[in-house]
Amino acid sequence: MILFAPKEIDSREARAAITPVTAKRLVDKGITIIVEKGIGELSNYPDKEYLESGAQLTTDRTKALSESDIIFRVRKPSIDEIKITKEGCIHLSFLDPFNDSDLLELMASQGITSISLEMIPRTTLAQKMDALSSQANISGYTSVIYAAEKLDKVLPMMMTPAGTISPAKFFIIGIGVAGLQAIATAKRLGARVTAFDVRQEALEQAESLGAKALRIELGENANEEGQVYAKELTPEQLDKQREAQAKVCEDSDVVITTAKVFGRRSPILLKTDVVDRMKHGSIVVDLAAETGGNVEGTVLDEEFVTNNGVRIIGLSNFESMASHHASQVFSANLGSFIEHFWNEEEKKINLDLGDEILSGCVLTNNKKIVHEKFID
Ligand code: NAD
Repeated sequence: MILFAPKEIDSREARAAITPVTAKRLVDKGITIIVEKGIGELSNYPDKEYLESGAQLTTDRTKALSESDIIFRVRKPSIDEIKITKEGCIHLSFLDPFNDSDLLELMASQGITSISLEMIPRTTLAQKMDALSSQANISGYTSVIYAAEKLDKVLPMMMTPAGTISPAKFFIIGIGVAGLQAIATAKRLGARVTAFDVRQEALEQAESLGAKALRIELGENANEEGQVYAKELTPEQLDKQREAQAKVCEDSDVVITTAKVFGRRSPILLKTDVVDRMKHGSIVVDLAAETGGNVEGTVLDEEFVTNNGVRIIGLSNFESMASHHASQVFSANLGSFIEHFWNEEEKKINLDLGDEILSGCVLTNNKKIVHEKFID
């Protein structure tokens, strides 16, 4: 079996889909690993380390795509590259399946078995393969570091002979994996943190990290305990939420929004009228920018300062800001996937689509779209 990992082509992307450590794990299984020369240039995994791990380097991306049985990527592939990918190849990457049906159709017609990392089930068994979580954890951290760097204030309280400096105030909206890491990071740096999520369980987790939970009575609670993903709120519930949050936003130095609803556009939680009332110099990081944004006026991949001095950050490469560690855990997720389905006797991957993990994340197989959510 040949596994190929190309260099990412998106200019925002600094991660590598495979690191030398994962390459070694898979070489030890008997897989031939080929990586594109320079794959780890931006995340500080030199070519030399890949060679030492037993992987081979190539500069011929087209040949490698057309000959490999497995492909690892971070971001979704281009249409042109799918056309030259070997039939029967198993392709693992983020695929943005809810927004890119053309790509899915092409992958199906080309006979590619596509695994969407967004669709890996959130079960204990699949946790080690869950790239959404491993990457959200990194982006939660880097979003706080980035905001702290842009803020013209210190984060912790400082008692000095010249007077006391109050701690910076952070408000984290959406307490999933990214939100929890953002809370933990801001707390470690000494900020005062308030947090909100529609899920009760998440509010309790925020409190256990030392944040103040904002509790909003949203009427009939659409989100039952233990539910992994939040359900979409009704327009009336969203209005209530925005109203209850407004004062906290106005009082905060940094607002980080991470609120997503699986498979749907992210809800607008911060409207322009509230941004207009926020403090001069305050920062808003919209971590949901790629799925439409939680903040009215966010521009994807840009940051700008509003007329009243609020910096709105809609960057989508927070994982890439810590690309070394983001690649480490991303690549470990993909390595675990291969190991889980590896048949040691036959030295190949066994993909039984009836398996509980595979039935969740295999989108195309045998020239067809096979995932029920994406069949027309
Ligand atoms: P996500 O990225 O889909 O969304 C981020 C957060 O936004 C969620 O906590 C969600 O409840 C919240 N949200 C949605 N609408 C909102 C609104 N209107 N206002 C405020 N918040 C809103 O979430 P995620 O990071 O993928 O994590 C979701 C949950 O899944 C978490 O509880 C996480 O711990 C859990 N999880 C479980 C497993 C597992 O069991 N193996 C793996 C990963 C994550």
